[in-house]
Amino acid sequence: MTGPAHRAEIVVDLAAVRHNVRLLKDLVSADGPVRLMAVVKADGYGHGMVEVADASREAGADWLGVATIDEALALRAAGDRGPLLCWLSAPGEDFAAAVAAGVEVTAYTVEELDEIAAVGGAHVQLKVDTGLSRGGAPRRDWAALFEAAAAHEAAGRVRVTGLWSHFAASDEPAHPANDAQEAAFREALAMAEAAGLDPEVTHLANSAAALLRPSSHFDLVRCGIATYGLDPAPGTSPRLGLRPAMTVRARLVMSKPIAAGEGVSYGHTWHAAEDTTVGVVPVGYAEGVPRAAGNAASVWVGDDRRPIRGRVCMDQVVVDLHGELPPPGTEVVLFGPGDRGEPTAQDWADAVGTISYEIVTRVGGRLVRRHV
Ligand code: PLP
Repeated sequence: MTGPAHRAEIVVDLAAVRHNVRLLKDLVSADGPVRLMAVVKADGYGHGMVEVADASREAGADWLGVATIDEALALRAAGDRGPLLCWLSAPGEDFAAAVAAGVEVTAYTVEELDEIAAVGGAHVQLKVDTGLSRGGAPRRDWAALFEAAAAHEAAGRVRVTGLWSHFAASDEPAHPANDAQEAAFREALAMAEAAGLDPEVTHLANSAAALLRPSSHFDLVRCGIATYGLDPAPGTSPRLGLRPAMTVRARLVMSKPIAAGEGVSYGHTWHAAEDTTVGVVPVGYAEGVPRAAGNAASVWVGDDRRPIRGRVCMDQVVVDLHGELPPPGTEVVLFGPGDRGEPTAQDWADAVGTISYEIVTRVGGRLVRRHV
């Protein structure tokens, strides 16, 4: 069962990524040009950072976005040369390496900005907290940050290329935080202008806002989950024609009959109500299959969805084959685009009470990733 034909794998459809990038660019530019940043942090949401980055650039992504300086440097080491922003750094990090590699960095505080300015020649973007209460300068510090930035810029120590913020609840379009954050962002822009700053890009929207809130587009949108064809808000991506790029597949190790009353997997949390057959699928929580998927999620075998029975183990799950006995080696799709009827990452997320982001960023372990 170890040959390539039997290997459990993550298949990433880069044509789907390219399709999604083109579609997103068209959608957000309907009322005038808006630049698109493909967010490829966390190994491209589990899809492969470098491969997704290349596919996104090829399809017209103007920018790439990552969290850490290390991720940005890895993209440069792989040959990427385009506009690239990272946003999760703190005083004491290797800003010199980022600047030398032409990576734009983000400053939240005057302290961090002073460090970046000391490197010389940095392109820096300022992040303001408009209500997420996560990274970014809180409102009481905006004026000080803008004044410090303007002073550094006037002295030729940095170029302030961007000003941005991040939504807390854009996946819930009616949430009052959305209007409040957009209004706060406009205030920040006005204050920055009053301080003498003139950033080239201003941005606030992630995928959900890019798709659902045109007023928040400003100069650029930062799309992560939609780049991968998944849904930032219920029903949005399928309606717009975005295509999920990731499929996780394996092959049956065995199938066998079990009798009514028999318990399945650790702890016997499921018992067969009637005689049936079960199949053993060689992926488990070490591959990122959530343990909560036991007795909750389904996989695709043959031409039907087959429920996972009992607990998810470290290396395997047991599925109900409803009386059929497909041979070892039969294809099992855990999730995919859904066009054959197979479960999607969203179905898995719904089954285990999480979001598709967590499903796709966690798959891995012994799975082999292949790009097509
Ligand atoms: N911008 C920032 C700052 C982020 O941290 C993320 C990811 O969480 C994104 C944009 C992309 O978000 P989404 O995947 O919802 O499009």
